[in-house]
Amino acid sequence: MKLLVIGNGGREHALAWRLAQSERIQKVYVAPGNGGTATTAQLENVALTDAGELIAFAKKEGIAYTVVGPEAPLAAGIVDAFRAAGLKIFGPTQKAAQLESSKDYAKAFMVRHHIPTATYQTFTDPVLAKSYISEQGAPIVVKADGLAAGKGVVVAASVQEAHEAIDKMLGDGSLGAAGARVVIEECLQGEEASFMVMCDGQQVLVLATSQDHKRLLDHDQGPNTGGMGAYSPAPIVTPTLHNRIMREVIQPTLQGMAKDGHPYTGFLYAGLMIGDGPDASRPLKVLEYNCRMGDPETQPIMMRVKSDLTEVFEHAVNGTLEQASITWDRRTALGVVIAAQNYPDTPRTGDAITGLGKNTEECAVFHAGTRLEDGVVKTAGGRVLCVTALGDSVKRAQATAYQTVQRIQFEGRQYRSDIGWRALSSGET
Ligand code: ATP
Repeated sequence: MKLLVIGNGGREHALAWRLAQSERIQKVYVAPGNGGTATTAQLENVALTDAGELIAFAKKEGIAYTVVGPEAPLAAGIVDAFRAAGLKIFGPTQKAAQLESSKDYAKAFMVRHHIPTATYQTFTDPVLAKSYISEQGAPIVVKADGLAAGKGVVVAASVQEAHEAIDKMLGDGSLGAAGARVVIEECLQGEEASFMVMCDGQQVLVLATSQDHKRLLDHDQGPNTGGMGAYSPAPIVTPTLHNRIMREVIQPTLQGMAKDGHPYTGFLYAGLMIGDGPDASRPLKVLEYNCRMGDPETQPIMMRVKSDLTEVFEHAVNGTLEQASITWDRRTALGVVIAAQNYPDTPRTGDAITGLGKNTEECAVFHAGTRLEDGVVKTAGGRVLCVTALGDSVKRAQATAYQTVQRIQFEGRQYRSDIGWRALSSGET
């Protein structure tokens, strides 16, 4: 069987790597892929990003089904195009992908279907937006409506900072069309967790829980990033909370989408803020939806998959997800992102990476911003690698991951040294 994975990040490397371990696999193509997918057995990069060309490729190669990694092609309607061409693909339609591609759509959807989220208002006029901020006071959160590659959210500590964010988004148009409309919302307190499920339009299969580390520096300091590391499982999601998330968030979301005429297929990611209190009553609110898996959460989640993943996706694209199940490795998986110098601003690129070594069942180096040039793997983006390790405890997984991180060198590399701190401070060992 031949499969196609669309994307070029660490998430896609991890997905393709796990799919390729199935005995049923002849080849997993990754379009366009990166330096890691270029050098992993059974994977092959295809230099395509255009939907029409991808459809032609999938037909020519007899691809059994396609899995879409990132949000941009989903928001552009790649699922609709593949389906119209009679091809199987896992992801939401363009309409359903609005849950991620428009924050205003997502907020209105949540209010309409009684899904808990921060109170908000949407603006296109900077004067009205600023006066709403002055009325509400700080802290307050300003979000560009559209996709902004993780750069569209400002958690403002002061009214002035929030006003500056409005000037940037609605004033000088620095985020383009994505920032021409803003959502201003209440600033929530608590601990974040990522909850992801697979959907086939009717049924849902819950994936292992995980927790990301958004800030650039140790102790959650510095600017927001695409994510500097993650682990799975997330101990904060106890069985009680798990049931509440399904009942209060996931089920109403899927029912709401079906009711609105956009039955949801694909990965659904709920970014949650969990406040303090006993599990049965602690505040639980949706920060955001993503219509794909998270990066870097995918990397530790894929490390823990023990089942044949090709069968799970096959059920998902055929609408028989109720027959699928995933066996999870009971151990903790923990991934540490190594980023390029100057990330999250314009990163330094083009440096040779040494010490990559070979992936094992206990530790895998998933590539993101890398490319293969004349046989040498070089840096080519902000988040370069995600070193992901399994361990009997959070501490063991952490120790194995950091041993490998120290072996890998390139000019100006940066990484956090405290990935997993929340799990450890909650009493995990
Ligand atoms: P992503 O890159 O995860 O897709 P995004 O640009 O879609 O991010 P959000 O996930 O909505 O943006 O917000 C990014 C981060 O900002 C969140 O992970 C959270 O840390 C913080 N944040 C967002 N909304 C709020 C809120 N209402 N209160 C407090 N913090 C928030």
